[in-house]
Amino acid sequence: MSPIRFEVSKQLSILATILVLSWLLGTLLNLLTLTMVSALCGYIYWHGRQFILLYSWLLSGRKSSINEGLGPWYPITEAIYHWHSDTKKNKKKLLSVINEFRLSTDALYEAVVLIDIQSAIVWSNKSSKALLGFHKKKDVGTRITHLIRHPKFIQYWDNENFTDPLLLPSPISTDLWLSIQITPYSAGQKLLVARNVTRLNRLEQIRQDFVSNVSHELRSPLTVINGYLETLDGIDNITPKQLSHVVQQMLSQGKRMKHIVDELLYLARIENTQQPITTKKIAMNTLLASLKQEAQALSGESMHQISVHIQSNKSLLIHEKDAYKIFSNLVFNAVRYTSPGKCIDIKWEVKKDGGYFSVSDEGIGIAAQDISRLTERFYRVDPGRSRDAGGTGLGLAIVKHSLERYLSSLVITSELEKGSTFTCHFPKDLIR
Ligand code: ADP
Repeated sequence: MSPIRFEVSKQLSILATILVLSWLLGTLLNLLTLTMVSALCGYIYWHGRQFILLYSWLLSGRKSSINEGLGPWYPITEAIYHWHSDTKKNKKKLLSVINEFRLSTDALYEAVVLIDIQSAIVWSNKSSKALLGFHKKKDVGTRITHLIRHPKFIQYWDNENFTDPLLLPSPISTDLWLSIQITPYSAGQKLLVARNVTRLNRLEQIRQDFVSNVSHELRSPLTVINGYLETLDGIDNITPKQLSHVVQQMLSQGKRMKHIVDELLYLARIENTQQPITTKKIAMNTLLASLKQEAQALSGESMHQISVHIQSNKSLLIHEKDAYKIFSNLVFNAVRYTSPGKCIDIKWEVKKDGGYFSVSDEGIGIAAQDISRLTERFYRVDPGRSRDAGGTGLGLAIVKHSLERYLSSLVITSELEKGSTFTCHFPKDLIR
C-alpha cells in the first residue's frame, strides 16, 4: 500500500474512533452534541496546525528537515521535498549545459548572433565584437540592420533568401572581409554566423589580378606576331630583306613570350616544391666575376662603371640555379634602371650574423610607396620602360621567393633620382 493510502485509511480509523468515543462520552454525560462537536473541532484543529506547519516549511525555502510529526501530511511533504531536489538538480544540469554552450561559442573564431522575429539581437558571442563590433550586453534588443548598415546586407536581410552566404566588408573596418551566413530556425528566429575571409578574399583578388596580368603580358607579343602574319598573308611579292625583318620581329616576340612563360614556371616551381634543395658551395668571387662580364655585355654602349667588391672569401651554400637567378636579376636590374656611364657596385661580405650580397646603383631610384610592392608579380613602377628593357615584371618576385627557400631576406633602400641598394641576407649556416 502506498504511504498516502495508508495514512488516509489510518486517519479514517482515527476519525471513526474519535466519533465513537465522543458519542459514548456524550451519551454518558447527556451532552451528545457538545461532545461530538468538540471532538470534531479538536480533530480539524490538529489538521489545521499540520497544514500551517507544512506551509511554514514551504515558505522557509524547504531548508529545514521535514517534520515527521506531520502525520498524514508527511508523505505530501516528502513528495514535495523530492520534487524540489530533483528540480534543483535538473536546473543545475541545465545551467552547466548553457554555460558549456556559452564557453564553446565564445571560443569560436566565427561571430555567432541569435536574432528574434523582430530582427532584434537576442545574444551574441565574444568574436562578434572583434568581427562585427557588437557589444554583448549593450546591443541586445537592437535591430541587426541598425548595426550592419551596408546596403548589400539590408537587401540580403529583406529578401530573406539565405541560400548563399554574403561577402561583405566588416562594419568596423573595410579591410576586414566577412562571409555572412544566416540560418532561420524555429518561429522566425535567425542564427547569423560571420567568418573572417580577408585572407581568402585577398588570395582570390591576387588570383584574378594574376590571370589578367598574364593574359595582358602574353597578348601584346601575340598581337604583334598576329599582325605580321596577317600582313604576310596579304602580300604577294615580298623581298628577302622585308621577310628577314618580319621573321626577326616575330622571333623576338616569340622569345619574349617564352621568357615570360619560363619565368612563371620557375616561380611556380620554387613556390610549390616540397623536395629538399640540393645545395652546392658557390665560390662568390667566380660567380660575381662572370656576372660582371654579363652585366657589362648587357650595358653595351651605355658603358656603366661596374665594380665587384669581394670582402670575404667564404662561399655560399645554395642551389646553383637559385644563386644565378637571385644575383643576376639584381645586377641586370641595376644596369637597366641606371643611366649610361653611372656606377654600379656589387658587394659580398660576411658578418657575424651571416652573408650579405648587395647591389648599389646610381640609377633612377624608387619612390617609397612603390618599394613594398616591387616583389609582387608583374609590379613595375614604369611598365613601358620595363618592357622596353626586356623586363617581365617577375624578376624581383623570383628573387624574393628564391630567398625565402633559404630563410633569407631582401632589403631594398632607395631614393628617387639618386639610386638604390638591394641587399640579400643569408643566415650564417649557409656560409662555408
Ligand atoms: P622587371 O622585369 O620589370 O625589371 P622586376 O621584378 O625585376 O621586373 O622589377 C620590378 C620593378 O622594380 C621594375 O619594373 C622597376 O620599376 C623596379 N626596379 C627594379 N630594380 C630597380 C633598380 N635597380 N632601380 C630602379 N627601379 C628598379
